[in-house]
Amino acid sequence: MVHKVLVVEDEELLNRQLCDMLENAGYEAVGSLDGVNAMLAFKSFNPDLVLLDIQLPPTSGIEVCKEIRSVSGVPVIMLTAKTDDEDVVAGLEAGADDYIFKPMPSFKVLQARIEARLRPLREPEVNELVIGPLVIDVLGHEVRRDGVRVPLTPLEFNLLQTLAESPKQVFTREDLLKKVWGYHYDADTRLVNVHVQRLRSKIEDDPDNPKIVVTERGVGYKAGQF
Ligand code: CA
Repeated sequence: MVHKVLVVEDEELLNRQLCDMLENAGYEAVGSLDGVNAMLAFKSFNPDLVLLDIQLPPTSGIEVCKEIRSVSGVPVIMLTAKTDDEDVVAGLEAGADDYIFKPMPSFKVLQARIEARLRPLREPEVNELVIGPLVIDVLGHEVRRDGVRVPLTPLEFNLLQTLAESPKQVFTREDLLKKVWGYHYDADTRLVNVHVQRLRSKIEDDPDNPKIVVTERGVGYKAGQF
């Protein structure tokens, strides 16, 4: 299956290079040079993954990310300058799954990050999981609360599923980076923190007093006991 990647990057040369490298590696790539164009391309191209520059005139990548998230859970990897730490957090809070610092790493590294997000989810061990008020339909890839579907991105779903599958286990942030993001090297634990917050905002009655995804102080996270 050929995966489609939308490259949103206003530096024309970098955009073209990224598209060329992706095409050479067997992806179908479309480039967009600004945020407005990006949303049009997103709708017509229907990509499997988006590479999204954050410093993007006139609409910032953060806004584009929010707009994508309002219609889709498609994996989004932000491209951001190393000096813009605030951008990283803002981008993750806007719904990006992951980020890559510029200047761009080798294509091999980039491709590994892309593949980690495109990899099909592992075979489920059970069809359905229940955690407090939530029913997780593993096969149908759907979470319901009191019969009402809760829209989660594939990554949020995978995070919740991982916790729910081992209800007694406390997962460190590193465990979760490995299991959910597929990282086998040191990655930023903020990825986990921000995604747990986003997940809680969708599934908890009171995200500030979570019962479903519980913090184990000094260790990590676990599924709440009901
Ligand atoms: Ca830029």
